Amino acid sequence: MKTLIVSDVHSNLEAFQSVMDDAQRHGGFDEMWSLGDLVGYGPDPAAVIDLLRRRPHRAVAGNHDLAAVGELSLEHFNPIAAAANQWTATMLDDERREFLRAQPLKLEIEEFTLVHGSPRDPVWEYVTSPRAARASFNYFDTYRCLVGHSHLPFLCRMNDDGDIAFDTPRYGVPYDLRDERLIINPGGLGQPRDGDPRAAYAIYDSEAEALAHYRVEYDVSATQEKMRAHSLPDFLSERLSYGR
Ligand code: ZN
Repeated sequence: MKTLIVSDVHSNLEAFQSVMDDAQRHGGFDEMWSLGDLVGYGPDPAAVIDLLRRRPHRAVAGNHDLAAVGELSLEHFNPIAAAANQWTATMLDDERREFLRAQPLKLEIEEFTLVHGSPRDPVWEYVTSPRAARASFNYFDTYRCLVGHSHLPFLCRMNDDGDIAFDTPRYGVPYDLRDERLIINPGGLGQPRDGDPRAAYAIYDSEAEALAHYRVEYDVSATQEKMRAHSLPDFLSERLSYGR
């Protein structure tokens, strides 16, 4: 069984479609796991939801998803994110809103815990520091935890002394998951922030007990054009060129 792992698609249909096509080239997948923030920032919230639902999937909610359906106040969003989120809310019909509202904050699937932020605080906490990672290891019972939210791809390990290591993935190289507790971020699919503008994702192969990160180019300018046409903030479209 192969699982396509995506996070922070952020209404970027071109990036999402490119990832699904690229995953097919890497052996395909049987189902998808989404780690939240399907919507927010980008120009195609409804189409992105529909594309996820075309395939078997499991999904947890992210802060942008919750805000778009009125389950989270925008007061903790920066003004640019809040503006994009308010626009997103107007683009969702009742049926799609209900779909987002039904997503849990945390899912356990076999030896994986799925959350958006961190297992301690799935809505807001970023697992980007050794301190946050060390705490996070105490908040999930499975072997591995999948997180998104920071839009940074990594594999995070803790050794017996409590030392934390964040490893940058080697793209296309399967990582043997056996016998190790890990926190894994597939990267920000629709709005990368690690300086690489390519869309990021991962594939888990349950037979091989291995996970590989991937990057794929997509038509950034097509997404940017749509964002400008919808008067979404320039900062949000421009950052897609740089992956920052
Ligand atoms: Zn996000």
